[in-house]
Amino acid sequence: MMCEKLNNCLFYHDKMPMEKGIGSIYKKKYCEGNNQLCARYMVFNELGEAFVPISLFPNMTDVAEKIIMDEKNK
Ligand code: SF4
Repeated sequence: MMCEKLNNCLFYHDKMPMEKGIGSIYKKKYCEGNNQLCARYMVFNELGEAFVPISLFPNMTDVAEKIIMDEKNK
């Protein structure tokens, strides 16, 4: 299933620096696979787009969890 954030996601539109090949692997796994596993989607879903760091990659779920936790504990 395609992620509904595809259209305005910096990662999907190759606006983030990345090792060659990783981008397409992640796109298949997360954006066109299961966005529920994506760190960017997790933060978007819990807190909103404004809270998604530009540099957050889909596999950085530990960082995403910390961002969400920190914000909810405020
Ligand atoms: S990186 Fe995450 S939020 Fe962005 S389009 Fe892919 S699955 Fe969706």
